[in-house]
Amino acid sequence: MNLPASSEPCVIQPLAQPADLPALDKVLHRPELAATITQHGLTLVTQQLRLLLAELRTQVLEQQLTLPEVEPTHIIAQLIERLSALTTSKLKTVINLTGTVLHTNLGRALLPDCAVEAVTQVLTQPTNLEFDLETGKRGDRDSLIESLICELTGAEAATVVNNNAAAVLLMLNALASTKEVIVSRGELVEIGGSFRIPDIMSSAGSKLVEVGTTNRTHYADYERAISEQTAMLMKVHCSNYAVVGFTKETALTELVKLGQQHQIPVTVDLGSGTLVDLAQWGLPHEPTVKETIQAGADLVTFSGDKLLGGPQAGFIVGRKSLVDIIKKHPLKRALRVGKLTMAALESVLSLYRSPELLPERLTTLRLLTRAQSDIQQQAQSLQASLQHAVGSDYLVNCEPMLSQIGSGAMPIESLPSFGLVVQYQGLDKANRQIMRLERGLRTQAQPIIGRIHKNALYLDCRCLSEAQAELLKVTWSEARL
Ligand SMILES: *Cc1c(COP(=O)(O)O)cnc(C)c1O
Repeated sequence: MNLPASSEPCVIQPLAQPADLPALDKVLHRPELAATITQHGLTLVTQQLRLLLAELRTQVLEQQLTLPEVEPTHIIAQLIERLSALTTSKLKTVINLTGTVLHTNLGRALLPDCAVEAVTQVLTQPTNLEFDLETGKRGDRDSLIESLICELTGAEAATVVNNNAAAVLLMLNALASTKEVIVSRGELVEIGGSFRIPDIMSSAGSKLVEVGTTNRTHYADYERAISEQTAMLMKVHCSNYAVVGFTKETALTELVKLGQQHQIPVTVDLGSGTLVDLAQWGLPHEPTVKETIQAGADLVTFSGDKLLGGPQAGFIVGRKSLVDIIKKHPLKRALRVGKLTMAALESVLSLYRSPELLPERLTTLRLLTRAQSDIQQQAQSLQASLQHAVGSDYLVNCEPMLSQIGSGAMPIESLPSFGLVVQYQGLDKANRQIMRLERGLRTQAQPIIGRIHKNALYLDCRCLSEAQAELLKVTWSEARL
């Protein structure tokens, strides 16, 4: 039996009966609800009130409610809470303390301010999205950024679609439907979220011809597999895994020679679209789109929101005769991008014209190149407020840790970072308490996302802006953790 917790007199409230429930109209016309109706409209308020009253009726019949709980004022308070929950956005901004810069589940690249401004402009005003201002006739949306893409990649032509998965699908469908495409067994990648090379091939109606072995694929393997039916030789960037040890990959330049001999296009799914050599900022080298085009690839596909640092998009760049076929394919129309993407892309791509300014201007590169000492300072400034918020059952330390680039880019490389590590030192099970704390932070109105590793909560500060750091101090002091 539950005893009252304090010495206050125990008042036993009478149970509510169905007849005690107020009528819908009676609640609706209460003056306390007037402002709510002005805000949300009578339709939504009536609908939610009807649902609420039906639920209360069920609970009354099950003898779960007391008389005060069915009073109009109590019902109105519940109704207002429901309406506000219903109308807050489901898509929320979160604070990314996972240490993964391009976190696919958290929306990948963050756009720089210039792109945000460009998007805002086209959101509220008409644009020349498909209107040629010279001729006054219908234009082509690709033409808005095609020359810029070509300038940055050295390609002859380019087209843009919804994402890189769409780019690969469209390329295969337009150029190799019902035909064979030769791919090394070492490159049959699966990217998170069910992009798998064999599956995308069959969706495009192409026949995958696997050659070589998982660790070694030779020139001769490709050569032997060529037949009348071959429409493409394709290389795929391993992205989220690495083949190490006794390995052999056929160089792109070799494959290009073979393709030229047989007049078969050679394509590369590069995954992350790197437009500049990241090694100049101390990051690991990734083959750039330009290098891939220079090595002779006929077409290259890549993402807009991975290392490129732009909005979600997929690029197909390369030989004009092939890009022209792709542009005319019906799927291109189905997979095209909207004006918001176009505006953001143009703005982000323009930044690449001044490469030395990129670490300052391109958010993704700024986060990837942040000095460990800078991250350390930020982590230290947060330590005391978090320790205070979590209480003495937990110990908060400021420690070096390793960030990930994310989105399958350079999976075995990591970046020296700094952050807070929270350990439990109370009497309960540590893993239970750490999981509870992680959930507590994640379910705040402003969610805070960390990661659990070996019974401790890791909060990596690499992706934290100054403004967010200030916000955090307030958020976790107000949170009941
Ligand atoms: C990421 C990736 C894709 C999928 O790109 P999305 O832009 O996420 O659709 C396809 N291929 C490779 C090699 C990748 O790394």
